Amino acid sequence: MFGFDVITIFPGILDAYLGESIMKRAIEKNLIDVKVYNLRDYTTDKHKTVDDYPYGGGSGMVMKVEPLYKAVTAIKSDGVQRLTVMLSPQGRTYNQGVAEEMAKETRRILLICGRYEGIDERTRELLVDTEISTGDYVLTGGELPALVIIDSISRLLPGVLGDEESNKEESFSWGMLDYPHYTRPSEFMGKKVPEVLLSGNHKLIMEWRKQEALKRTLARRPDLLEGVEHRSNS
Ligand code: SAM
Repeated sequence: MFGFDVITIFPGILDAYLGESIMKRAIEKNLIDVKVYNLRDYTTDKHKTVDDYPYGGGSGMVMKVEPLYKAVTAIKSDGVQRLTVMLSPQGRTYNQGVAEEMAKETRRILLICGRYEGIDERTRELLVDTEISTGDYVLTGGELPALVIIDSISRLLPGVLGDEESNKEESFSWGMLDYPHYTRPSEFMGKKVPEVLLSGNHKLIMEWRKQEALKRTLARRPDLLEGVEHRSNS
């Protein structure tokens, strides 16, 4: 079973998303295991303090290293191998390729969610194997990136998606963006579903979809096609 551990000061954010839909089913079917740890449980003072003022001054608070050290050490005390990931806008940019790479992990993935102005630098030095950014923007915390990683890896694992949610032909999975999708009615506000999709001719439909995926990728993300060329040359 693929395992994730998440350290956060807002476990409810994780619980809410993981308690619905495909993630919920994957957990119930024991296809993934997600353990969420509240960082405040690893503090020693009565206020359960996880942050403090920055040395050198400046605005905002910094996440303390000691509770994180205690949490990671306690989680790892079971002896199970883990890849420790800190969520950070300064990390490696996450994409489908990274998701596919991580989906092959045999270790559990331990995700550390930051908050405030950031995390004491010594956390990086002492505890972290790699840092991941979900994109070039700054969020208020690492919980959404943690969920992005859990969701995108989980849907690559065998059995997590049913046939109706298959990811074989999804954007990026064949190096291109996805083709346009339609469902009933066949005409809406004067807009008709392309004739070929109603033809029942599977060969023609597949060709049309490939063409549309190519057109769409050329128009919106030509950089992906360079990737396809490089991959097929290597
Ligand atoms: N001052 C930090 C910096 O500029 O690198 C940003 C701190 S941010 C307000 C608080 C936390 O949100 C970070 O420690 C990180 O865990 C998370 N975070 C924010 N944006 C993120 C992103 N694009 N990818 C991953 N984590 C992010």
